[in-house]
Amino acid sequence: MPDRELMLFGTQQVRDDGHLEVGGCDTVALANEFGTPLYVIDEAHLRQQCREYRERFAERLPKATICFASKALTTTAICRIVDQEGLSLDVSSAGELYTAIQAGFPPERILFHGNFKLDQEIQMALDVGVGRVVVDSLSELYRLAEAAQRAGTETDICLRVVPGIKPRTHRYVQTGQVDTKFGLHIGTGAAAEGVRVATELEGVVLRGLHCHIGSQMFELDSLARAAEVMVEFMAQMRDEFGVMLDELNLGGGLGIAYTSEDAPPSIAELAGTVAQAVQEAADNCSYPVPEIIVEPGRSLVGTAGLTLYTVGPVKEIPGVRTYVAVDGGLSDNPRPALYGAEYTAVVANRANQPHTIPVRLVGRHCESDTLIDEVALTPVREGDIIAVFSTGAYHYSMASNYNRFPRPAMVLVQDGQADVIVRRESLEDLTRQDIMPERLR
Ligand SMILES: *Cc1c(COP(=O)(O)O)cnc(C)c1O
Repeated sequence: MPDRELMLFGTQQVRDDGHLEVGGCDTVALANEFGTPLYVIDEAHLRQQCREYRERFAERLPKATICFASKALTTTAICRIVDQEGLSLDVSSAGELYTAIQAGFPPERILFHGNFKLDQEIQMALDVGVGRVVVDSLSELYRLAEAAQRAGTETDICLRVVPGIKPRTHRYVQTGQVDTKFGLHIGTGAAAEGVRVATELEGVVLRGLHCHIGSQMFELDSLARAAEVMVEFMAQMRDEFGVMLDELNLGGGLGIAYTSEDAPPSIAELAGTVAQAVQEAADNCSYPVPEIIVEPGRSLVGTAGLTLYTVGPVKEIPGVRTYVAVDGGLSDNPRPALYGAEYTAVVANRANQPHTIPVRLVGRHCESDTLIDEVALTPVREGDIIAVFSTGAYHYSMASNYNRFPRPAMVLVQDGQADVIVRRESLEDLTRQDIMPERLR
């Protein structure tokens, strides 16, 4: 394979000694100090992505709110950074909400999502006073209104609506088409019914509509079409029920580069496309341009993360391929198994060498847990450090204890300083919840 251009993000660079650096820290030193596998988050890059979202949307729209979809990466430190950058926060479970509150995130800037919010979760949302509950079904609407009335309060909501649009992305992350578990469909009349009921019920105040059509999208035409359909539906609600809604939440979904083949649109292009689609549709329907909310997850944190591994056995099978085993795998990154996700990697302690030898990077679980099917590396030896790029989103948050692997630590790096923000799990942590019943003793 020809040597490839390294794909570097944020503060990543190759030092004179050939080591990969991020946040002013030598990744090889990070691996030595904190152990591997290790999730590393580039704080400056994460903050930069937050600002880029805020600024590019502010330039194009009179009122825009950027809301981090915390499911991509939820820890208290990450919530704090997102708060400091002035973003809002999506949560979709009691656990994510609890984490945000523990981090001191202002509840009025939290949106609560989910297609089946438990009664305890609805109560928790009311107790902490989240800014918006994004209602996903009629049954939830009734349960929420009832709980709010019981508590003698009122809560602001928006309705999750299905525009009936299928973006070109992996089918596991498509959510805007007709055949979906999420939301109330425009096409079946369920969305209009939801709007009517929401405006009549006490305890809830309908502020706007929400849709989220998919994730890891590389083309913005589906999103533009969704924006248009949503604005038209808002105008229809005005005409049918005299309801004026002034918030339109268009969800997340912007793709990122996992390999050099990926060329996602920029945040500026996203903002431009959304603004134009909303403005045109609003003009056509003589509707005031609503406040736009977007909910990026992956595109905020994905490229700010990398994972460091230590190389174990290297097996060359003549005429077939070379297998390079690392000290992690499926438990810290389920995405190759889930979605056939692709990645690129570099030998972090010789990043300045030509990376031309194709190998298969595999984990150490009792599965054929492939991390990268084929990646060109410089010749690797046991003990080398491998960095896999773009692992900030949906890695730690999807990690498991499969094979009873303790979950990795996470460090936040900035200006040469590295702080642990998630402690590595210990063996004791693994049996902490286990109970030996009396009769087995
Ligand atoms: C997952 C999700 C997002 C974020 O999606 P990304 O593809 O990570 O940007 C936003 N909104 C909702 C409702 C989601 O479920």
